[in-house]
Amino acid sequence: MSSEREAADPLLAKYALDITRDGIMITDAETRILEVNRAFVQVTGYTRDEAVGNTPALLKSGRHDATFYQAMWQALREEGYWQGEIWDRRKNGEVYLELLTITAVREPSGQISHYMGVFTDIQKLHTTQQQMERLAHFDALTELPNRNLLAERLREAAGQAVRQNQLLAVIFLDLDGFKQINDRHGHAVGDRLLVMISQRLRQVARSADTVARLGGDEFALMITGLPNMEELELVLGRVLKLASAPCEIDGQPHRLSASLGVTVYPFDSADPDTLLRHADQAMYQAKEAGRNRYHLFDAERDQQAHTRRQLLDRLAEGLMRGELVLYYQPKVNLRTGEVIGAEALVRWQHPERGLLPPGEFLPQVEHHDLIIDIGEWVIRQALAQAQAWHTQGLNLSISVNLAARQLQHPDFLDCLRGCLSEVPGLPPGTIELEILESAALENTGNVRTIIEACQALGVRFALDDFGTGYASLAYLRDIPADVLKIDQSFVRDVLEDPDDLTLVEGVIGLATAFRRVVVAEGVENAEQGVLLLRLGCDLAQGYGIARPMPAERIPAWVRAFRPEPAWALWADTHWEMADFPLLVAQYDHLKWVRQLALFVEGAVSLSLSEAELQDHHSCRFGHWYYGHGRQRYGHLPEFLDLEKVHMAVHELGPEIVRLRRAGDLGAARSRLRGLLALKDDILVMLANLQQAVASHAPGQGNLAGIH
Ligand code: C2E
Ligand code: MG
Ligand code: MG
Repeated sequence: MSSEREAADPLLAKYALDITRDGIMITDAETRILEVNRAFVQVTGYTRDEAVGNTPALLKSGRHDATFYQAMWQALREEGYWQGEIWDRRKNGEVYLELLTITAVREPSGQISHYMGVFTDIQKLHTTQQQMERLAHFDALTELPNRNLLAERLREAAGQAVRQNQLLAVIFLDLDGFKQINDRHGHAVGDRLLVMISQRLRQVARSADTVARLGGDEFALMITGLPNMEELELVLGRVLKLASAPCEIDGQPHRLSASLGVTVYPFDSADPDTLLRHADQAMYQAKEAGRNRYHLFDAERDQQAHTRRQLLDRLAEGLMRGELVLYYQPKVNLRTGEVIGAEALVRWQHPERGLLPPGEFLPQVEHHDLIIDIGEWVIRQALAQAQAWHTQGLNLSISVNLAARQLQHPDFLDCLRGCLSEVPGLPPGTIELEILESAALENTGNVRTIIEACQALGVRFALDDFGTGYASLAYLRDIPADVLKIDQSFVRDVLEDPDDLTLVEGVIGLATAFRRVVVAEGVENAEQGVLLLRLGCDLAQGYGIARPMPAERIPAWVRAFRPEPAWALWADTHWEMADFPLLVAQYDHLKWVRQLALFVEGAVSLSLSEAELQDHHSCRFGHWYYGHGRQRYGHLPEFLDLEKVHMAVHELGPEIVRLRRAGDLGAARSRLRGLLALKDDILVMLANLQQAVASHAPGQGNLAGIH
């Protein structure tokens, strides 16, 4: 503004000064006030006359120290200008915050002639801001910190807990029965109760702790500086006690209690929000366990659940991306040497982890709907494969495993029907569904209905892992499964463990009685196959026949398959239950010899007793020979031949042990070769005896030929 214009319109300048809402004061070089405007009068409460002649010290609040004013004057001298927030005092004594700008006015010579101060009262702004801050950090009803402030304090306290090697607990508290009181007595009473509880909780907290209200009847306590868990238990006990002490409002007593969920940092090393969520989860468990108690969050279990969720997501993605594949394990008839079918077994071709067996991912999704999607994919895929083989002239029945959840799903039958309609050329009998015996036991009535509906579609049913689920006879009668699959654990030990032999024998007997087909799984060697055949179980699958393989390898495998000669040898014979001990005797003898051989090679200490070693009456074979064996076969020359060789075995055995103990390994080994030759002789003799017995037995037809 030029000086001519200023001089030309002094009235306008005065008017402008007066209407501006900023307070203005003009002082001389000695800071004596020369002029103030109307806004100055309004803000400070001093009249123009009171102000003029004074210095701005008139307004000093006392809130700033000398260095504050020194810095201000220095800026004015050096830069001719200062701006900042400053606390001043009104005439009525009230302190207020203003935003002040001071400009030094200089003469042409550079000499300061005046100062001009312009200020805005920002007290209102400041108050609003403070209120907003309070609102953002505190709960209005109880005046406790809210979730935001708690999270902030948690962040600080977590760092400190680590530095001081102490524990930090986050307690999530939810009142029990508060809603009923609120509903019955109204919100005003409810609010007063909340205030009362908040005051009690404050008593538990020390200065570094925080009690926060999260909303409704939910509170949280952050307890710092805990040396150990015992200390925490004391705190929890106190909180529970305080929360359940009676509250009196207007002479009327009310009873509340609290359920607490607790997580402890750094055992649970999550971020503040997650810590609170974990405590919340634990609180729900406290509620479920019956309220008025606390529950500790289990970080390890949560980690497992987290891993499970990740696997679930990844598996769902894998299913979509086509990472699942079906392998097929052939199923054969030992008696006829035919390949009768194959079991579809799912695998996950994981891009990073390689080919995963179902045990690595199915159990984790067994109780999740994803198993239903996977199951549906398996059925579709297996049916399409069966049809492809069918058109090549390869007629294999395909077994598909079902999860319990899948079988019991309301849409299961529709889904199965839909899948079958997509392969019209395929006889429905081609597919067999396997459910775990244990799964079928869960809801027998329902399972029976579903199985019957499937059978009406022509689909057959098998009870998988049979023998592990404790099915009773009544149950077997109720569940109309076509096939029983003897669990592989029994088949594996059938040669070793007389109990398993009895069980397998029993299952085969049951299957015959109830007219079910029986399949042995887990057949790992030819001997097991022979034994199963002798017991009357013709159908088998297992590594000893073939391992599960990709679909494209199946046709060539089927073409090349030749049954074990040993099976053919026994194919036409029949066997009576009373003759089973004869089968077992063979394996008892084998075991005796194997134990000796292992001892010679130093793999194990000798597990035979002295009597079993020395005395041909005391070993298990001897027990059979001089007991049940002599009674039943004493008249057969094949039986009588055995005695001499068996006695020779018991002469050689102790000598081998003596040599080995004396450290003469060479001699022990050479005698062992002799023992193994005797063993072969005994096996041949036993086979002769078994043939003689089998061909003499009248024989009862078994289930060969059902397939
Ligand atoms: P399962 O139905 O009892 O299948 C037989 C399992 O035993 C298969 O394991 C097979 O590879 C294995 N096995 C076969 N012969 C032998 C043997 O001689 N010795 C030994 N040690 N093992 C043998 P896999 O493929 O790992 O499958 C394990 C289980 O996973 C299956 O047991 C079945 O219950 C389940 N499963 C497989 N595929 C599916 C599917 O598509 N859906 C559902 N719900 N479950 C499936
Ligand atoms: Mg199976
Ligand atoms: Mg099985």
